[in-house]
Amino acid sequence: MKNKICPLCGRQFSNHSCKNKDHLIPRAVALWSKELLTKKEYSALRQYINSKYNIYWVHEHCNYHKQSVLLTLSQVRKLSYPKEALPRINKMFISLNSQLNKYRSKIKQIKKNQKHRCYSCRRKINNHFVIRRINSKKNRTWDNACLVCDRCNSRYKDFAFVKKIKNHTLSSA
Ligand SMILES: [Zn+2]
Ligand SMILES: [Zn+2]
Repeated sequence: MKNKICPLCGRQFSNHSCKNKDHLIPRAVALWSKELLTKKEYSALRQYINSKYNIYWVHEHCNYHKQSVLLTLSQVRKLSYPKEALPRINKMFISLNSQLNKYRSKIKQIKKNQKHRCYSCRRKINNHFVIRRINSKKNRTWDNACLVCDRCNSRYKDFAFVKKIKNHTLSSA
């Protein structure tokens, strides 16, 4: 899609705008969904994620703010995605409904486990977080998933150390 308006803020790009290509349905959804889905569901998801109806230019700062948040279809409709792409976006969200819901319910579960706080610094995350591996040397499985805030996301490569601190606290208590 060669969109001229940033879908996230609704403003036109200027010559000086710093732009990024953003995946409407974040790539993280595909990266983390493999173990939740059948082969057929997973391949449909991957296909849509890499299609042109899922990739748009956005301002760099708007992209930073969106992070890997998976929007709902009704949230998408309120944003400024190109009108001509809306029927295809609609179709994409409806076809992937079961895949996206499985991902959403996993995220919800982890959020609850973390008491809606960043896995690392424990600040409240609300709807602004990034999904990361706890131990970056281990696979992307949900046992190894955590949600962290922007600050921790850009600061650390690995969150395995957090667990160590927690275990230490528990064993010394
Ligand atoms: Zn923008
Ligand atoms: Zn944090």
